[in-house]
Amino acid sequence: MFDVVSKGFRDVRNRFEGKREITEENVEDALKDIRMSMLEADVNFRITKNFIERVKEKALGEVVRVKAGDSEVTPGDHFIKICHDELEGLMGPVDTNITFQNPRIGPTKIMMVGLQGSGKTTTTAKLAKLCIDQHKKKPLLVGADVYRPAAIEQLRVLGQQLGVPVHAVEGGDPVQVCNDALKIAKEQECDVVIFDTAGRLAIDDVLMTELEKIVETTKPENIFLVVDAMIGQDAVNTAHEFNQRLEIDGFIMTKLDGDARGGAALSIKEVTGKPIKFIGVGEKVEALEPFRPEGFANRILGFGDVMGLMQKFEKTLSEEEAANAEKDAMRMLSGEFDFNDFYNQLQQMSKLGSMQELAEMMPFLGGSIPKDVSLDDHELVRIRAIIQSMTPKERTNPDLLTRQPSRVKRIAKGSAQDLKKVEQVLQQFNMMRAMMQQFSNFGGGFLNKIPGF
Ligand code: GDP
Repeated sequence: MFDVVSKGFRDVRNRFEGKREITEENVEDALKDIRMSMLEADVNFRITKNFIERVKEKALGEVVRVKAGDSEVTPGDHFIKICHDELEGLMGPVDTNITFQNPRIGPTKIMMVGLQGSGKTTTTAKLAKLCIDQHKKKPLLVGADVYRPAAIEQLRVLGQQLGVPVHAVEGGDPVQVCNDALKIAKEQECDVVIFDTAGRLAIDDVLMTELEKIVETTKPENIFLVVDAMIGQDAVNTAHEFNQRLEIDGFIMTKLDGDARGGAALSIKEVTGKPIKFIGVGEKVEALEPFRPEGFANRILGFGDVMGLMQKFEKTLSEEEAANAEKDAMRMLSGEFDFNDFYNQLQQMSKLGSMQELAEMMPFLGGSIPKDVSLDDHELVRIRAIIQSMTPKERTNPDLLTRQPSRVKRIAKGSAQDLKKVEQVLQQFNMMRAMMQQFSNFGGGFLNKIPGF
């Protein structure tokens, strides 16, 4: 995701390399790159245009000159910071709120709407899991897509998987089904009811009228539109049309784990005025994440998503491991990085799952690693053997290996690996370290915007 638009911003960073001043000329060139990459990533034309204008105005409005020898903030950093803030502004502020009803009054109603195939049923189950895990609620799932037996069956299977009751009546009246569900929720002491409403291949009046009736009758506290990021601008148009007929509270954008170009995520808030609340990043019920515009802006700019990564660590690691990981991350972000860190990072990454997704989140991998890179257990064992064949001094002082090739040969022999393999690992290490240092150089500007830094 975001490959296309990220590449544009990376080119811009390179363009500013070594420049001591922001001038109209270098800004114009940079903006041309950004404009092209945004359009290519399927960002709405008007939004691209406004974005470019705002960045230009800000970049030229502030005179930035860097003194010789001052490596703190370069004009390039400054320009990227402006882009970062504008990107965040386009998608933000963060809003992952679900409105919960006072349980004494009745259950909280969440109505899921969206086109067929957008991921509505899957997301209904994901949201139920989130309500259970994070809000300690007891949900009831409602199959209101009475026309498609397969949709009801899918919901039943998901409900069973989660241990959550499902109410559905094939061929029934959707309004009645939803209304009955409220009574059933009371009987079964469920405090959240999630309606999985019918989808169509395209928006039509019959569907909208049915949805309006459900809203009128059940008065849901939350209406979430599920949109598929893979369909780009069509997702934004769908969002716009739905939002005109129903008072949508926010979006859940699915399939952001695939090769969506990201344009929809960048455009939808600006076009509709409504936030993306959550994102779907896989087919499994746990693959739902809060949408954090800050993290997305970082990923687009190729800095990785530090906070997102932290949250993933917290979910996957024990409390102690998470605390250590956080300490390590802080140290690494201050520019220190050795082979012990390198190995720990790889090990933790292998625990976290999808390399593709992590590659996007990890600042040091951003864009520089081919798509098909895989970090399987074998690879980890090989890298571990290589690192274990280093002396403690070499592990903490990696430059020794660059200066003395004989050490590299010794390590290859000791770990029973090809010299080429060892050199490749060293190269990966150096790349990771360079990216870490680059990231820490931005520290003053970016890190203090991330809560907790
Ligand atoms: P519905 O017709 O809107 O109810 O859509 P479904 O829930 O049946 O989902 C359609 C397809 O998209 C299914 O194959 C899901 O597994 C898949 N899907 C849903 N959400 C995601 C997601 O976030 N990522 C990926 N990769 N696939 C998803």
